[in-house]
Amino acid sequence: LDAIGKADSAVCSFITVDAEQALAQARALDAHIASSGTDGLGPLTGVPLAIKDNICTQGTRTTAGSQILRDYVPPFDATAVARLRGAGAVFVGKTNMDEFGMGSSTENSSYKPTRNPWDPERVPGGSSGGSAAAVAARECAGALGSDTGGSIRQPAHFCGIVGLKPTYGRVSRYGLISYASSLDCIGPMTHTVEDAALLLNAIAGGDPHDATSSGRAAEDFAARLLPPEQLGGGGSRPLAGRRIGLVRETLGEGVEPAVEAAVRGAAAHLESLGAVVEEVSLPTFGLGLPAYYVLALSEASSNLSRYDGVRYGARAPGAADLASLYGGSRGGGLGGEVKRRILMGTYALSAGYYDAYYKRAQQVRTLVQSEMGSALERFDALLTPTAPGPAYRLGEKSADPLAMYKGDLMTVNVNLAGLPAIVLPAGYTPAPEPASGGPGHGQLPIGMQLIGRAFDEAGLLQLAHAYE
Ligand code: GLN
Repeated sequence: LDAIGKADSAVCSFITVDAEQALAQARALDAHIASSGTDGLGPLTGVPLAIKDNICTQGTRTTAGSQILRDYVPPFDATAVARLRGAGAVFVGKTNMDEFGMGSSTENSSYKPTRNPWDPERVPGGSSGGSAAAVAARECAGALGSDTGGSIRQPAHFCGIVGLKPTYGRVSRYGLISYASSLDCIGPMTHTVEDAALLLNAIAGGDPHDATSSGRAAEDFAARLLPPEQLGGGGSRPLAGRRIGLVRETLGEGVEPAVEAAVRGAAAHLESLGAVVEEVSLPTFGLGLPAYYVLALSEASSNLSRYDGVRYGARAPGAADLASLYGGSRGGGLGGEVKRRILMGTYALSAGYYDAYYKRAQQVRTLVQSEMGSALERFDALLTPTAPGPAYRLGEKSADPLAMYKGDLMTVNVNLAGLPAIVLPAGYTPAPEPASGGPGHGQLPIGMQLIGRAFDEAGLLQLAHAYE
């Protein structure tokens, strides 16, 4: 809480800091230890975590970055939160985000922008920018984010931390405020790969409250990381036998040279650890982005219809009739980008255009899925950049939605295919104009993305951990 007090007036990671409930959780753990010792304590006892503000926390306001949920205090915990609570974690607060997860910079929050701890003039990425900044600024030990098209991974890249998007179905979505239900995933954002494995241990596993969660037995992901003696330097080759595909379509034109250099450098380092790295071509890769924006917005237009001021959401005062109650509540409660997306999604689903847009995008999704699936029969993991460039300046892309959407090119296919992917630091680039403050004065981090086979988080974490 002291660290948040020092850092957050500049970084603005949090929408809500709930000191009272964090201290109550911590005191309850202290009381347990005083009376019964450490018996029965969970593996995350006392670990301070931040939770993205679209994941429900019992008794703590949960806004999804929207004014329409400004007064919403959930009467229940999301399953992922309940499991972390059960493991002993302490929740310090709720992190800032693009409204309903719609954005890539956290500038679409209806509360405030968050700043990148490496350079306060730059964005932390999004939509989980508050969680990424909170971890990078050391305001918490780790955080939960959500990822519909890259929202865990791209901010991890912009802020120089580790972000894991699990396989679709690995973590229950119960209590996650929906953006696009067939794509949404909850996952950990941490300082290290081992921390990501420890958080995944706690949150993974089937849940009767989410019919799309997988009943696969939970694994101990942390225990399956290679032990230090197998990683030790001096020519040891811990990744011998692993095959990694470097995706050709994600390099070259449109990618900043510093990003390409970091990813190629990472490929060379993986080879030095014993892995075989080969280029692989995924010809449909570029089709994923338009298909994603049709599907995500279509699902969003349906999911967000519940915020009508009656069933859900703050009600506009003084409405004379039902239409003005709906219009006033939605018109005043939802932000510009959210309205744009509801309009586009509704259009794509409308009777005359369904076949041309929604159905076609579903067909592209199947193509992308099968192409990535067959590449992953030949490779243990695919390697790509996370985004075309490092963190950009606040305001640089906010007036041009299409430019912002294009930045999601390298992350959305993973969601279309439902695969797990991890982003971890791969290098740094000198910041063009050194800004003041932050841990890496004058530098910006660059993350690489490793995409794994469905439900092979263990293999993916092993790779990332050996690299790290
Ligand atoms: N930037 C993407 C979008 O705006 C992804 C967001 C997310 O993963 N929540 O849709």
